[in-house]
Amino acid sequence: MKYFVNENCIGCGLCVVTCPEVFELTDDSVAHARDVETGDPQAAEAMENCPVEAIEER
Ligand code: SF4
Repeated sequence: MKYFVNENCIGCGLCVVTCPEVFELTDDSVAHARDVETGDPQAAEAMENCPVEAIEER
């Protein structure tokens, strides 16, 4: 599974704290999902907990 952060991101940083293996904050202070296949349950948790539903899976 791969993840994607859409334009709804408000840069709260929660996903980066939850799963730093996949999510990182960019210089523009929004999250970016690394282009990696992962089955990490923490990545799924990050998606579920995003306050603005900015994380999608592909
Ligand atoms: Fe953006 Fe959602 Fe991650 Fe917060 S949890 S940084 S709003 S993608």
